Amino acid sequence: MSNTPNRIVIVGASLAGARAAHSVRSAGHDGPLTLIGAEPHLPYDRPPLSKEFLTGDQDPGSLALDPDGAYDELDAEVMLSTHAVGLDTEARTVAIAPAAGGTAETVPFDGLVIATGAAARPLPRVGNLAGVHTLRTLDDAQAIREGLDAGARVAVVGGGFIGSEVAASAKARGCEVTVIEAASAPLVRGLGADMGTRVGALHGQNGVELRLGVGVDGVLGTDRVEAVAMADGSRVEADLAVVGIGVVPNTAWLEGSGLRIDNGVVCDETLCCGPPGVYAVGDVARAPNGWLSPWHGDRPIRVEHWTAAVEHGMAVGRNLVAPAEAQPYNSVPFVWSDQYDARIQIAGHPDADDDVEVLVGSAEAGPASGSQDSGSRDADRSFVAGYRRDGRLSAVMALNAIRPFVRFRRLLASHPSWEDALELAATLN
Ligand SMILES: Cc1cc2nc3c(=O)[nH]c(=O)nc-3n(C[C@H](O)[C@H](O)[C@H](O)COP(=O)(O)OP(=O)(O)OC[C@H]3O[C@@H](n4cnc5c(N)ncnc54)[C@H](O)[C@@H]3O)c2cc1C
Repeated sequence: MSNTPNRIVIVGASLAGARAAHSVRSAGHDGPLTLIGAEPHLPYDRPPLSKEFLTGDQDPGSLALDPDGAYDELDAEVMLSTHAVGLDTEARTVAIAPAAGGTAETVPFDGLVIATGAAARPLPRVGNLAGVHTLRTLDDAQAIREGLDAGARVAVVGGGFIGSEVAASAKARGCEVTVIEAASAPLVRGLGADMGTRVGALHGQNGVELRLGVGVDGVLGTDRVEAVAMADGSRVEADLAVVGIGVVPNTAWLEGSGLRIDNGVVCDETLCCGPPGVYAVGDVARAPNGWLSPWHGDRPIRVEHWTAAVEHGMAVGRNLVAPAEAQPYNSVPFVWSDQYDARIQIAGHPDADDDVEVLVGSAEAGPASGSQDSGSRDADRSFVAGYRRDGRLSAVMALNAIRPFVRFRRLLASHPSWEDALELAATLN
């Protein structure tokens, strides 16, 4: 392979893959470019699927990531409803098969971007009971939306970001909603127990029942879901169950490829996964992030964040086209979530062992105090909490405090001390 690849193939036609397609062209690649996607849709945006797409009547077309004709303009061949089923890094080919079945073929590449994301983890032992859903794709969201009739009883299994957002959307559509979470609070994985409890209080405030600290045994019903069976012997009656218990990276097609697969495709700091010209991006990639090095060294981590998928796609486009100048990935992690009328934003990398303190505003329910938010959301709480590790600010989490959050997110880039964080907080309170 010459240093600059001639034929570039991107597997996974979603956020990270689409951004990589744009990026290789902006970086000057003028050879053949192919985007292969298992879904029948052109790349679309997933965050609205658990939010406004469920609460409103949005047309699926409005979720498109790029305007009509964008891929013609990029001069990219787009193969939809097509699964990559194998990778040969010696022969430098991807084996593909149409989703509807049919003959497999191989597509040669000089440069390859693996952007196959992740799939929703199913609840074990459920089978094909109607009314039980996971949420990852547009088709999943359409099926859930059809079941959210006013008055329907909705059980949400899993109180993470997706489960919490689905609960809020179902409530907005007039459903009776119960969130079931095995941990002691919702959002523990993302926020830790203290902030998880405080933010999780949004459910109760909005009339959604929370069942905490109890696992799920299974789903009951003959053809259709009737109830969720709890590990303590109780039942949660349900007309619809939505399971949000995490994701599994889509790496099955890479078995036997020789790439290192361990909770995602393991990459180096430039997102290269070993063979020259082969990169991974987005939710499927497990790579070091230079910003995390004070705590993680060059240990690879996998995140499921919209912004990381965009940044990976952009970075890999450049690294692929100019490998001699490949840049390591280095960015303050960022994720947001909208639930009820609240916007939650997190920057940095909160850890369960971090000390957590409210820096701006008040985490207690009641009128916002000290917030510099624009006030566009009718929030009754507004605060920024800081996470402290080894004397440094490791992360911030904001509830309805967009402007102060932006200041802390910027501060985080320079690995501030805890004192720096308190200093900034003093100017914002
Ligand atoms: C409902 C929902 C809400 C979200 N909300 C937020 C939010 O509020 N904030 C936030 O930061 N993040 C959010 N996210 C996460 C964000 O959407 C993801 O981080 C992002 O979509 C990752 O992009 P990706 O391209 O890496 O992977 P994906 O979007 O998962 O795309 C991977 C694509 O590859 C395809 N594929 C898989 N295997 C193959 C194969 N073998 N051959 C061909 N194609 C294949 C898949 O079909 C899919 O189209 C949300 C995600 C979901 C599902």
